[in-house]
Amino acid sequence: MELLQPSSLAEIDGGLAIHGGTEVVPLLRDGILEADRLVDIRGVVPRGVDGNTIGAGTTLAELEAGTTIPAALREACTLAASPQLRNMSSLGGNLLQSTRCWYWRLDYPCRLHGGDRCHAREGEHREHAIFANDFCASAHPSDPAAALLALGALVRTDRRELPLDLLYRLPTPDDRSVTTLEEGELILELEFETPLASTYLKAMDRKRWAFALVGFAAARYEDGVRLALAGVAPIPWGLDSLDALEAAEPLPGNAYKVELAQALGRRAIASITR
Ligand SMILES: Cc1cc2nc3c(=O)[nH]c(=O)nc-3n(C[C@H](O)[C@H](O)[C@H](O)COP(=O)(O)OP(=O)(O)OC[C@H]3O[C@@H](n4cnc5c(N)ncnc54)[C@H](O)[C@@H]3O)c2cc1C
Ligand code: SF4
Repeated sequence: MELLQPSSLAEIDGGLAIHGGTEVVPLLRDGILEADRLVDIRGVVPRGVDGNTIGAGTTLAELEAGTTIPAALREACTLAASPQLRNMSSLGGNLLQSTRCWYWRLDYPCRLHGGDRCHAREGEHREHAIFANDFCASAHPSDPAAALLALGALVRTDRRELPLDLLYRLPTPDDRSVTTLEEGELILELEFETPLASTYLKAMDRKRWAFALVGFAAARYEDGVRLALAGVAPIPWGLDSLDALEAAEPLPGNAYKVELAQALGRRAIASITR
C-alpha cells in the first residue's frame, strides 16, 4: 500500500483520505475498508479556530479547550472517546466516522454493506436507532455532529458549501451511503452560528469513553431553541421540539431511548433557558 503526503490539494489524485487514522486504521485492519493508496491529508486540511470558523483538521482535544467554542461543541468533544483518541481525532474524521453497529463492524453482509437484511432489526438492537430505522437501524455515533447541527453549522469542502444536515443522507436500496460527499471530496472547514447559550448532554453505558446511547444538543438563539441528537438515527437527527420525540418508532429492544431523550432534552433546554 502506498502512502502519499501531499502539501496541496492539487497534488491529490485519488486514494483513501486519512487524518488521525483512529477510524481508518482499525477498518483497514479488519478488512472493512480496502485501499491501494492512503492520502495523509494533514498537510492540506486547515487546522485551528478563527472566529466562527473551525478547520476540519482541528482535533477534538483542541476544540474541548477552545475558549471561543460554544459550550455544546466543547461538551460534545469532552464527552467523546478518551483523551488519547481526542488528541488524534480530527473534527472532519469524526463527522465522517462509520456506524458502530456491531453487525456492520463484524462485516455481516447487511444492508449497509450492500446486502438485503438488517441483522440488527432482527437481532440485537439495544443501541440502535429509534428514528428512520426501517432500512438500516444504525445509530449515528458522532457527538460533535449533533452539537454542530444544533449550532446551525455550514460545511465547506474543496468543492462546495452546504448546511451540515445536507452532508448526511439516509441509506436507501439504491445508495447505501450515509453522506452526500462525492468520491474524493474533502471537508476543509466548518462554520457555526454563535448561540446565546448551548449545551450537550450524553447518556452512555459508562461515565467515560463510551458512545452515546443518546446525545442531546440544545442551542438558544434570538429566534428560538435548536435541538439535535446523536445515537437515535442513522444520521445526526434534528428535532423541531421535544414533542417531536413522540414520532420515534423504537424497535422492541430500544424503547428506553425515547424516555432517555425526553429526560435529557428537558434538562438541556432548562439549562439554556434559565
Ligand atoms: C474506541 C473509540 C471510542 C470513540 N468514542 C467516540 C465517542 O464517544 N464520540 C464520538 O463522537 N466519537 C467517538 N469516536 C470516534 C472518533 O472520534 C473518530 O474515530 C475520530 O474523530 C476520527 O477522526 P480521525 O482524524 O482519526 O479520522 P480518520 O480515521 O483519519 O478518518 C475517518 C474517516 O473520515 C475520512 N476523512 C477524515 N478527514 C476527512 C476530511 N477532512 N474530508 C473528507 N474525509 C475525511 C476518512 O477517509 C475516513 O473515512 C471513538 C473512536 C474510537 C476508536
Ligand atoms: S443497522 Fe444498518 S449497519 Fe447494522 S446490521 Fe442493520 S443495515 Fe447493517
